[in-house]
Amino acid sequence: MKRIGVFCGSSEGSSPLYSEMAIQLGKVLFQHEMELVYGGADLGLMKRVAEAVLGLGGHVIGVIPKFLIEKEIAHWGLTELIMVRDMHERKLKIAELSDGFIALPGGFGTLDESFEMLTWNQLRLHQKPFGILNIDGFFDHLIAFIDRMVNDRLLRSEHRDMILVSDNPNELLVKMKQVNMPSQEKWI
Ligand code: AMP
Repeated sequence: MKRIGVFCGSSEGSSPLYSEMAIQLGKVLFQHEMELVYGGADLGLMKRVAEAVLGLGGHVIGVIPKFLIEKEIAHWGLTELIMVRDMHERKLKIAELSDGFIALPGGFGTLDESFEMLTWNQLRLHQKPFGILNIDGFFDHLIAFIDRMVNDRLLRSEHRDMILVSDNPNELLVKMKQVNMPSQEKWI
């Protein structure tokens, strides 16, 4: 894995832990000699991860749609800022550029991007590890909900197991490097 796509809040959230761990993730990505790919914004947890990587001299690629440049305030200090047409193209570009993905706390945008990457894995449009940095149990309810999907036979357990979880950025990256992606396609 050379590049990691990170999905996280365009807000900072209420807990200072979110920002602290976003910064920690940026540092760990740099230590693992990985490049960061993200939504290119200059705000929220997105900015925290990007600036942690940049601060160490790391490589950061932002992907932002034209219409969001003002709303989200594009980060002009990145190694590379790629402008795209819309949200769909943004997700596709981030997916293409990244060798794996990590979700941090966020809102609808974070969930939308995360589940799109997971469904593409499930359909084998790509085969890329997906990790959740479960800061302060933020994702506990979501993980329980996903377990219910498996329990109710709406999701295969091998597809649920594609979601790697840790509250420690280094441990999460190590898990992602070691994971075997499921050979089972969604409908077979
Ligand atoms: P949020 O988690 O809602 O703070 O959003 C995090 C990032 O996801 C922001 O850069 C949003 O612009 C972006 N986002 C929101 N909705 C979508 C979407 N439908 N597709 C792609 N990105 C989105």
